[in-house]
Amino acid sequence: MTSSADTLTERFLENLAAAVRIETVNHGSDSADSEAFQSLHELLAQSYPLVHSKCSVEKVNDLSLLITWEGTDPDLEPLVVMAHQDVVPVEPGTEADWEQPPFSGAVEDEYLWGRGALDDKGQLIALLEAAEHLLEDGFEPRRTIIIVSGHDEESGGFSGAQPISNLLATRGITPFFVVDEGGGIVKSLPGLSKEPVALVKTSEKGSVTVRLTARGEGGHSSAPNLPTTIGKLAKALRSLEANQLPARLDVMEPTLQALLPRMGRVTRTLFSNLRVTSGAVIRLLGRRPETNAMIRTTTAITMVRGGVKENVLPQEAWAVVNFRIIPGDSVQSVIDFVRKKVGKDVEVETEGEWNSEPSGVSSTTSEAWQSLSGVIGEVFPEAQVTPWTLIAATDSRHFEGIASDIYGFSPFLLEMSDMERIHGTGERMLVEGAGRAVRFYARLYESVCS
Ligand SMILES: [Zn+2]
Repeated sequence: MTSSADTLTERFLENLAAAVRIETVNHGSDSADSEAFQSLHELLAQSYPLVHSKCSVEKVNDLSLLITWEGTDPDLEPLVVMAHQDVVPVEPGTEADWEQPPFSGAVEDEYLWGRGALDDKGQLIALLEAAEHLLEDGFEPRRTIIIVSGHDEESGGFSGAQPISNLLATRGITPFFVVDEGGGIVKSLPGLSKEPVALVKTSEKGSVTVRLTARGEGGHSSAPNLPTTIGKLAKALRSLEANQLPARLDVMEPTLQALLPRMGRVTRTLFSNLRVTSGAVIRLLGRRPETNAMIRTTTAITMVRGGVKENVLPQEAWAVVNFRIIPGDSVQSVIDFVRKKVGKDVEVETEGEWNSEPSGVSSTTSEAWQSLSGVIGEVFPEAQVTPWTLIAATDSRHFEGIASDIYGFSPFLLEMSDMERIHGTGERMLVEGAGRAVRFYARLYESVCS
């Protein structure tokens, strides 16, 4: 790319701020504010004229975008890059807690502020920005580049990424590999690395929500028949918290392997002899919620109801428990486990539309991995490239049917605490070096598609 680093960053931040100001909020399935999404499309068309004239831009279900930048060699499998347009709502009543207004795109105190700055408009703007720059420079890819931008990732991707993946399948397209949102460049990883780490998602957890219902006779509280329905439910919930699903290190092992050079001597010894030390390592990782989530299917009681009046025994009490499933476990294995732990006094049924199996695990030795990690190493030489299991679900899981290597990498620098701001209060992107995200995509297109 011929543009200087400063111009790159400036143009990127300007276009990102404009995108953040368009409130493409996802309030749940089937209620997209199409006007907001259309305004975003207009902004993209204005900001990226070459992308819109030289590539084919298709709309799927009106609001999702499928952009194909045709390569000169049709025998090469396309590269797929993804970033979604929708953002989660700002929780009503928390607007004032934001350091800068949530849809301002304000650049203050070294950050660009706003809902979607990191999740996921930063990525959308960076990957388009890179394509526009390369088109300005006259770059012609040999390998086709496909840009997928869904409009409903935050409600499951069933109207966006899923139909787009199906459409690509009918066209006989099998991607070389897919790069979607995922990890980022974290400045440090508590307990594992004091130096920057480039987290690359190689798998993601599944999810199942279970409803537990206890029933009983009810009646007056003056002569209770024990156990009460609430007592039975409480016992079941206690049992689920006391008996977590078993921990396993196989999914996290590649992460630990990659981080060995960054560890102190003691931790390195501990983590490099897992056959002997697995018990101690599991206890250590199990102590922190973030690392505990990487080694097992987690159990989270999220709702509970029962009773209407102080002196009435309820006939029914229920609770909802959400499990995030690690690759290797399954929806069915979790339900079997729950049934065993709660016993016969409590009914168990699955709940909601969000249940999904964990993803497969993408390769960390394939040509695709080598290409991607090579480009990350080139643009972010300070960061140790590390495979990672994402504990949330993204649009790219819909590509499992057509692609074997699906990665998640968001080319932005962040603190661990910035991760909590995603979907929370005060989402923001570090301004310093933000232009490197554009350079990452440009180098990815050049090195994988030339
Ligand atoms: Zn996202």
